[in-house]
Amino acid sequence: MKNWDLTAARAADRKDDLARFRSRFELPDGVIYLDGNSLGPLPVGVRERISELIDNEWRNSLIRSWNAHDWSDLPFEIGRKIAKMIGAEADEVVCVDSTSINIFKNLSTALQLRPDRQVIATPKGNFPTDIYIAEGLSKQLGGNYSVRLIDHEDPIAGIDDDVAVVLLTQTDYRTGYKLDMTAITQAIHDKGALVVWDLAHSAGAFPVDLNGAKADFAVGCGYKYLNGGPGAPAFLYVAKRHQNLVEQPLAGWHGHAEPFAFESHYRPADGILRNICGTSPILSMASLNVALDAFEGVDMQMVQNKSQALCDMFIDLVESRCGEFGFVLATTRDAGRRGSQVSFHHENGYPIMQALIARDVIGDFRAPDILRFGFTPLYLSFEDVWNAVEILHQIMESGNWDQERFHIRAAVT
Ligand SMILES: *Cc1c(COP(=O)(O)O)cnc(C)c1O
Repeated sequence: MKNWDLTAARAADRKDDLARFRSRFELPDGVIYLDGNSLGPLPVGVRERISELIDNEWRNSLIRSWNAHDWSDLPFEIGRKIAKMIGAEADEVVCVDSTSINIFKNLSTALQLRPDRQVIATPKGNFPTDIYIAEGLSKQLGGNYSVRLIDHEDPIAGIDDDVAVVLLTQTDYRTGYKLDMTAITQAIHDKGALVVWDLAHSAGAFPVDLNGAKADFAVGCGYKYLNGGPGAPAFLYVAKRHQNLVEQPLAGWHGHAEPFAFESHYRPADGILRNICGTSPILSMASLNVALDAFEGVDMQMVQNKSQALCDMFIDLVESRCGEFGFVLATTRDAGRRGSQVSFHHENGYPIMQALIARDVIGDFRAPDILRFGFTPLYLSFEDVWNAVEILHQIMESGNWDQERFHIRAAVT
């Protein structure tokens, strides 16, 4: 444990090789943003690109833009950029739909590859949409299909010969516990099942190596660590060895072998392309496409190293300076098993988080009692971490968090 103070924090910033990347983001003055794991901030260049797209491409070129401005290639151009960040081949990733919809497609495909097995296994504490989509698919299929809820930290214990596919979020959204993708993929394969990795809290947060882990399928969000903007489209990965073996059920015209032949029957395109359903949201995709350039020349290993240092510092400081106020660490102390976030339990988690947000320290609250703080090394400094804990200390010591207005629950927490 290091003895942090403001001088030590500033010294760490001066030695930080990633500090220069902060200029790639437009952050409001005075805000300490610890929620880039939920909605990434605005990267430099997005505003200009969207204006250009609206003022020139949409307004002037109109429908000609699909060809003239390569709109048609956007799902693949973005896919190629994300592929590099998650250890996939360029033609194994496509930007499409939402994470929820991509989970549906990947699970459906995986089930077809294991026709003699009828269980989808997923952790009981998984992000709700992951569980709900699995349940919806299982109901839709009828028969003996079912969803089995397993343990996130020991998923293998819940897997037997009935399990066709395991849907795992690599980094738990509440606790930040990170699974060893290589070891767990291997263990799942040893049991004869397939795996869908949800990279919502992995892609853009630390190095991911899907191919190195021999992963089967993966999905992830465009608006979290990838900073693509509110509701940005998601990505989907299918290992090349599976791509042409089965069809996914949302067989829209853009996944057809020849969409502009307008045939009366569906024939899937080859490769990753068959996972596209309909027309892409071009404004959102253009935003994500430019946002990803914020990672240009960034070494993800360095991002992980700094993230671990920021998280360790935050844990040390909350425990040493706010220890008397009842915060209980929900995240593991083992940096190797942790995503890029730190969570604390606190019975008054909701009003405390609202009080922090009112002081421009933005994290979020996850029921029932978790204060969640995301650490994004490209734009956060060690001084930010120092200041965030200083403000938390002030709020707790003064009792300022316990105002009526901080107890009122908003629709989005
Ligand atoms: C954020 C998140 C999602 C979001 O899915 P959407 O379809 O984009 O709403 C899904 N899964 C996990 C694990 C998440 O953290």
